[in-house]
Amino acid sequence: MGIAVENISKQFGSFRAIDQVNLEIKTGSLVALLGPSGSGKSTLLRMIAGLEQPDSGQIWLIGENATKKSVQERHIGFVFQHYALFKHLTVRQNIAFALEIRKAPKSQVSSRVEELLELVQLTGLGDRYPSQLSGGQRQRVALARALAVQPRVLLLDEPFGALDAKVRKELRIWLRQLHHEVQVTTVFVTHDQEEAMEVSDEIVVMNQGRVEQVGTPAQIYDQPATPFVMSFIGPVNVLPANAGILSGNRQVTKSDRIFLRPHDVVIQPNQVEGATLAKIDRIIYLGWEIRVELVLASGQPVNAYLSREMFHQLQLQPGQRVYVKSKQVKIFPAAYAVS
Ligand code: ADP
Ligand code: MG
Repeated sequence: MGIAVENISKQFGSFRAIDQVNLEIKTGSLVALLGPSGSGKSTLLRMIAGLEQPDSGQIWLIGENATKKSVQERHIGFVFQHYALFKHLTVRQNIAFALEIRKAPKSQVSSRVEELLELVQLTGLGDRYPSQLSGGQRQRVALARALAVQPRVLLLDEPFGALDAKVRKELRIWLRQLHHEVQVTTVFVTHDQEEAMEVSDEIVVMNQGRVEQVGTPAQIYDQPATPFVMSFIGPVNVLPANAGILSGNRQVTKSDRIFLRPHDVVIQPNQVEGATLAKIDRIIYLGWEIRVELVLASGQPVNAYLSREMFHQLQLQPGQRVYVKSKQVKIFPAAYAVS
């Protein structure tokens, strides 16, 4: 196991930031910690790094109990959202910094630095200062610096959070490729579900200091374990049990809630089994997808997302009466409150 977190809890005053978390991360994997702001992602990452002490529980790194070990002893690479490069040092000097502290021989340092510059695709920029680089380039230097000492584990806390959307997208793909090359056990923190799905093979969804679900992007999206996961990972309609859009004879009790993804709403021009009457309120044309806002006879709003082909085939118009049913739904008891 690359990282094992055993029953870790952490309070700040009376506030429980991490509540009995258990987690296993395989050696060499790239895992995303995904959750809303304040869910405890950074606190958990900082405890893995040794920057914060848990109140109880244990942390294992590559088969070794690291709970009482110092940050240095853990051999971890860490990259934060805000690039912490040394302004007065060049790119090359920044990357070499940790190696020089460890008194590595000069020739070894310079060849390792060149190797790392190539790895993060910054060959030729070694003599620049951080102020002469773009935000994306600076974060790549930060990654090269974290990798310089060949860490056993790489921890990234929203490393692309401060960059603009286009650069962020490029760096996600780049990070996947980099991980493929270096294969170091990596934990990547993000609050962006698309980013988590694009970068990692496995996602740990966190909420209020607890792990809600661990799974592949497909498992998290299609088999969400809780209403929170279903709502956080993508758009969803939450409907009362009597909404009338369940096909077949699915058993629901009055207190159940039906969770229906807008992509799983089927619009029919005519009445069919399991469908209910609805009126089209508004149509939002996004190009790659068309969003149709409907209202059921009960007054309940329902959103449907259609492909362009389906939209043109149905020739939908605002004000039109149609019938809606569901392709698939998840049913959770209402008491299972969505926060
Ligand atoms: P995330 O990274 O998911 O946004 P954090 O781990 O930073 O969440 O924080 C989780 C909760 O713990 C937040 O409510 C935050 O305010 C609180 N918290 C984090 N660090 C401290 C601290 N040093 N002192 C007091 N409260 C903290
Ligand atoms: Mg954070």
